[in-house]
Amino acid sequence: MPGVNDAVLSPPPPGHAGGPKVLLEVFGCQMNKLDAELMATALRRGGYDFTDRDEEADAVMLVTCSIRDQAEHRVHSHLGELAQLKQRRPELAVGVLGCMAQREGDALLKRWPSLDFVAGTRDFPAVADILDEVRADHTRVLAIEGAPDVRTPRDPALRPHKARAFVSVMRGCHKRCTYCVVPKTRGDEVSRPMDDILTECRALVDDGVQELTLLGQTVNGWGRREGRSLGDLLAALQEMDGLQRVRFITSHPEEMDDALIEAMAACPKAGLFLHLPPQSGSDAVLRRMARGYTVARYLQIVEQLRARVPGIELGGDIIAGFCGETEDDHQATLALLDAVRFSQAYIFRYSPRPGTPAWGRLDDDVPDEVKRRRLAELLTRQNEIMLERHRGMLGSVHEVLVEGASRRDATRLFGRTLAFDRIVFPGEPEWVDALVSVQVNDATALTLSGERVAAPVA
Ligand code: SF4
Repeated sequence: MPGVNDAVLSPPPPGHAGGPKVLLEVFGCQMNKLDAELMATALRRGGYDFTDRDEEADAVMLVTCSIRDQAEHRVHSHLGELAQLKQRRPELAVGVLGCMAQREGDALLKRWPSLDFVAGTRDFPAVADILDEVRADHTRVLAIEGAPDVRTPRDPALRPHKARAFVSVMRGCHKRCTYCVVPKTRGDEVSRPMDDILTECRALVDDGVQELTLLGQTVNGWGRREGRSLGDLLAALQEMDGLQRVRFITSHPEEMDDALIEAMAACPKAGLFLHLPPQSGSDAVLRRMARGYTVARYLQIVEQLRARVPGIELGGDIIAGFCGETEDDHQATLALLDAVRFSQAYIFRYSPRPGTPAWGRLDDDVPDEVKRRRLAELLTRQNEIMLERHRGMLGSVHEVLVEGASRRDATRLFGRTLAFDRIVFPGEPEWVDALVSVQVNDATALTLSGERVAAPVA
């Protein structure tokens, strides 16, 4: 089964054993994983139980993503499998939620007669009521008009990981990057009040969370419209007893300013990693993308960050072959990779998406074989950079928050360093969710290997 979310693998909530069983499957980003967790709270309150097996599910819900074509194809292909399952078990309720539901709406119901409901990005708090209605009345439901409420109740006990949790600090986005469908699927930016966020963080930390990841489409712009800054939130979390680490994704270069960089420097818990997508190394392409900054400004931010937060690593997103991208533009993006030396980067070929500002306005004029070649060149260069960097870490010791058993080798564990490097090492199951010291003794471009040591973190 593709995309099974580990949120559904947490034990069924007490008090509803024997209730109708829901299988939640997540396609896409951290925001979708968190939405699934919030849905689990709503479902639990509505008397539902959970399963991770479609054969015993009374309802299957797909939490979907619209960012790339491929993500939507996977959902459609899975809906085909579920249609067959439903022929054998007509009582099974099937729903699509999230970005794809918001973007396609009624068209999804028309395309898939086996689909019972479609609920958009602002309607998931009502998911239990929707499911009740579908199951009781055998009606089909379309719900895509929900209000942008940022205060969604959450049950800390339903989180998938004991030591780590996502916290949504804002929803939607008010920027209009021309390649991006998010403002259409998630609506305009709404920041969550600081007190509300801190109350949730406190409850999670009291329940054993050591690392919080604050989520927002432009998280570093949180609260700006209300006269606040993400720096206020970092300062408050720095003082929170029991909390070890705070991460925040995704940051927008246009929202970085001196005050936030100083706030990061004053918040050691904020770790040594910042995801700051440049998207391109060419000013002409950045203008067509409507990103709102130049390459020079981006590099200035990087320089300032490295001066004020020594050891900070940067993560990037790059789009290869955006509309009008010339060979010189592409070479400029390769040069940006060399200049910044990202510790990790998500690099994709551009594909036009309906509902974006570029759709029907900008010509998708870079031939597919050119996009593929540029993508391969960018990936090759980025892999070389990551391998060089990882080899330079051999022998160093890092504090690692252990996340679980390695998928390839159950005798090994994996975790993340403060700079968000993934490291694999032999270990015992009881180390999961603990902070341990690990020395790096081998490296590939993507992963570090090591061994637990008693030595203090260097
Ligand atoms: S900042 Fe741009 S890329 Fe990010 S969600 Fe908003 S519109 Fe999309």
